[in-house]
Amino acid sequence: MDIFHTIIIGTGMGSLTTAGLLAKNNKKCLILEQNYLVGGCTSSYWRKGFVFESGATTLVGLSENMPLQYFLEEIQVKIPATKLEIPMQIHWENEKKSLTRHQNLDAWIEEAEAFFGKKNQRAFWEFCFKISQFVWKTSLVQKTFPPKKISDFWHCLKNTNFSQLQNAPYAFYNMDWLLKKFQLHENQKFIDFVNAQLLITAQNHTSEVNVLFGATALCYTNYDNYYVEGGLINLVTPILDFIQKKGSLVQTREAVEKIFYHKKDKLYEIKTNKNTYFSNNIVSGIPLNNTLEIFENAPSYLQKKVIESEKLNSAFQMGIAINKEINKILPAIHHQIHLEKPLSYINADSIFISLSHPNDLTRSDLPAHTVISVSTHIANPQQNNILDKSIIEQEIFDVLIKKDFFQKENVVYYHSSTQKSWEKWTNRKYGFVGGYPQFFGIKPWEMVEARLDGNGAYLCGDTAYPGQGIVGVCLGGIIAFEKMKNDGKIK
Ligand SMILES: Cc1cc2nc3c(=O)[nH]c(=O)nc-3n(C[C@H](O)[C@H](O)[C@H](O)COP(=O)(O)OP(=O)(O)OC[C@H]3O[C@@H](n4cnc5c(N)ncnc54)[C@H](O)[C@@H]3O)c2cc1C
Repeated sequence: MDIFHTIIIGTGMGSLTTAGLLAKNNKKCLILEQNYLVGGCTSSYWRKGFVFESGATTLVGLSENMPLQYFLEEIQVKIPATKLEIPMQIHWENEKKSLTRHQNLDAWIEEAEAFFGKKNQRAFWEFCFKISQFVWKTSLVQKTFPPKKISDFWHCLKNTNFSQLQNAPYAFYNMDWLLKKFQLHENQKFIDFVNAQLLITAQNHTSEVNVLFGATALCYTNYDNYYVEGGLINLVTPILDFIQKKGSLVQTREAVEKIFYHKKDKLYEIKTNKNTYFSNNIVSGIPLNNTLEIFENAPSYLQKKVIESEKLNSAFQMGIAINKEINKILPAIHHQIHLEKPLSYINADSIFISLSHPNDLTRSDLPAHTVISVSTHIANPQQNNILDKSIIEQEIFDVLIKKDFFQKENVVYYHSSTQKSWEKWTNRKYGFVGGYPQFFGIKPWEMVEARLDGNGAYLCGDTAYPGQGIVGVCLGGIIAFEKMKNDGKIK
């Protein structure tokens, strides 16, 4: 009987981070993926001659003091990434002028002052940027956060410094408080902008997001933003190649259905749709909701950490291919549009648009075409069923045509996905994606801990700490690995 050091569930960026660090330490792992393709919500797929992104389109984290950069340096893997000159543009459906989210802080502040009025914009953004620098720096210093065992507390304590003590209280204030502090709480246009930006970076609004995470999320565009040639699957495959070269195995189309812990033998038994395997440890890179449904011996207190559909989001997403090089005309490839009227069924009042990079000739079989991803949130995915998705598709087309992205005759192919497609693609309960949103009632130290039991089961991915976007799940994967190390699993 083969006994693996660790069996890892899923090939999302969370799982792959822990798997990569285990592989670097010569631990033989088996990685099981239910889908035919790897990467989960960070992936790309071919359809009708075009490469579409499965979920994520924007990428940060390759700068100094950021988790993705730390991880890739640890495993010595290089990604074919191009730095974007302008990270994003924001548009309002009925307004001509758009807002450019420059990476340079001064340039961005000047732009924000011109758009939202001069009052306190500089002070607000300088404060947010300082907080974001602190949060990113601390994330790689406090690698056993939130602490649970004495060894974690000891690690935390050893790495505590004055700036952490000074900034920690901001976890007790929400973004509404911050807007008030800078007297921006009556500037409705600015509040709408902040809310739409927080929705894509923290999955929630000003009242629910604490200042530490909110300020960091708002400064997403003030860090180096990257485009990966050929789609984000090319972030995933070099990591997988490294893991396989180090002797670990990856199986696609194999879904984990049950996990048992045999206390006497200190072994996990993993039953899939095809086989039964044994390992000393497991790392679940799938949501806590899914994990607890298949994990027979999970401690009962974990059930209290589960967030149900009413507080979660799925996504409505469209993949569009057009016979026009719009990406050469627009200054940015990522755009957010504030809608005049919310979309039918899902009530979303903004959409996010990402274009293939103008220099990337690998996303289409045909020259001079652009591949577009459009996405928006679907709140409470279990309840908010979409009866006729062609209505939403038409509303999105109308907005993109009105904003001059393209004309109807430019469209050569399109398709869309709802919570049902997400459920199939990722196996996530209710088809929820984007992880657990930020909630003000859940303080950073109360988030889901990487240890699932006291034996050898761990959790990473976007329902575990800190769980926001690719760079967040990467940090969660690093933390799961550090906790395994602290538990004596990596000798
Ligand atoms: C539409 C959309 C847009 C987004 N945009 C961005 C963005 O621009 N930038 C950004 O940074 N983030 C973005 N995100 C968020 C980001 O993509 C995710 O948070 C992140 O990729 C999640 O990684 P993960 O490892 O937690 O999980 P996943 O990517 O979901 O990976 C989990 C994997 O486990 C597999 N699996 C599930 N159940 C089983 C089972 N029982 N057995 C075996 N395998 C199983 C799944 O198939 C999946 O491959 C976006 C997400 C969505 C949905």
